[in-house]
Amino acid sequence: MPRSSSFIESPTSADITVIGAGIVGLCTALSLQRAGLKVALLDATGAGSGASFGNAGLISTGSCIPISLPGMVWQVPRWLLDPEGPLALRPAYALKALPWVVKWLRSSSTANVTRASAALHALHSPALQRYRELLGDERFHALIKQQGQLHIWSQASKPSRADQLVADLRRQHQVPTEPLDQQQLRARMPDIASHVRAGICFTEHANTVSPQALTHALLARFMEEGGELQARSVQKIERLAQGYRLWTSVGDVTTPKVVVAAGAYTAELVKPLGVHIPLEFERGYHVELPNPGVTVAQPFIYKDKAVAVTPMQNGLRFAGTVEIAGLRHAPQSRRVESILNTARDLFPGIHTEGASSWFGLRPSTPDSVPIIDEMAHLPGLYLACGHGHTGMTGAPMTGELIAQLVTGKGCDLRADSYSLQRFG
Ligand SMILES: Cc1cc2nc3c(=O)[nH]c(=O)nc-3n(C[C@H](O)[C@H](O)[C@H](O)COP(=O)(O)OP(=O)(O)OC[C@H]3O[C@@H](n4cnc5c(N)ncnc54)[C@H](O)[C@@H]3O)c2cc1C
Repeated sequence: MPRSSSFIESPTSADITVIGAGIVGLCTALSLQRAGLKVALLDATGAGSGASFGNAGLISTGSCIPISLPGMVWQVPRWLLDPEGPLALRPAYALKALPWVVKWLRSSSTANVTRASAALHALHSPALQRYRELLGDERFHALIKQQGQLHIWSQASKPSRADQLVADLRRQHQVPTEPLDQQQLRARMPDIASHVRAGICFTEHANTVSPQALTHALLARFMEEGGELQARSVQKIERLAQGYRLWTSVGDVTTPKVVVAAGAYTAELVKPLGVHIPLEFERGYHVELPNPGVTVAQPFIYKDKAVAVTPMQNGLRFAGTVEIAGLRHAPQSRRVESILNTARDLFPGIHTEGASSWFGLRPSTPDSVPIIDEMAHLPGLYLACGHGHTGMTGAPMTGELIAQLVTGKGCDLRADSYSLQRFG
């Protein structure tokens, strides 16, 4: 990499440096600071500007189901052929994605799903309690609403083997749910289209009214407690005899320990160190309507199209779709159009004037379980990445587990469930 002579090397006075101030990096930095360490937090584009900016904001404490399930492989062709379907694949990228897709398919066995489910449950179920501790009561209540979440369907199909497994796992992890018939659904959502026939309420789930404000509140806490966010893009991580040198856009930094929490960019940052992470980028989109003219009191996921709908501070947000197209391919306007069509289909007469749109990269592992680990051959280098569809839910306990790995203090999570080594 070419370097200008103006590059200066500054040894940081911090005990540990966190790269990335998304929801994962912020929860991690704050947890490490609370564990008594001096923490430097670096981000290329400012706090909460990546996937953590425009997601659906669902904090799904009962979310214990990975994406890859038994039999799902047979649904993939149907999804891909439907231009309005929940999944899109850029043909030119298909070969590159193939190794990850193969691992994704292997993750769908009942044994693997059961293992992943236990890891997700342990990570997600304490999320609200942990957010409250990180944010403090006042910010927690201003930003997080505990009003449950619905999953709703139009097409009632015969329960599949995967549906049975999902129901069993939710029972096993004691996730409270309440079935809703069409009449009960309409009582909660008077404006919903008549083709929506059934649903489930996850009574203990929550949501934030602004993912952006949530990340800013965590940053505020971090700074109030003595932390500092540095605007630096890390270009390379170099191992030293003791610690690491970070080559950054505004000079180098040496640090005894480093946590890489750079979301979708984590894999390419650590690859030169010989660390290979099976991370794919499940690109997702949102459309936000400032004055939709419909009543949505509770967030919900429309399962037929895998679109989440959340009442946010500034409007009604429709977020979803998975597009496998690589890290740097431009966003596709037809995915936005498809979400808008879903909005019109769910709420005939919805007002779409003033709609804004966004796209972001879910950093996803094949088994939907994040990687929260110290690298065995690189002591002092930690990974906190791969939170896929549930990073807003998994971030608080990720911070807790990293703090445990760094300080050796106790944590309720089994670290081996989140290790990189599980991928062989
Ligand atoms: C459409 C959509 C809807 C979603 N809905 C939900 C939901 O409802 N609930 C839920 O739990 N999850 C949801 N998710 C998933 C969630 O948004 C992600 O899992 C989570 O935001 C990932 O957080 P992160 O901190 O790992 O990554 P990011 O938020 O992407 O943060 C990474 C940070 O690292 C910085 N960075 C990257 N490279 C460098 C570098 N070289 N140097 C310095 N800084 C760097 C970036 O600037 C960025 O700020 C959704 C995602 C999408 C796309």
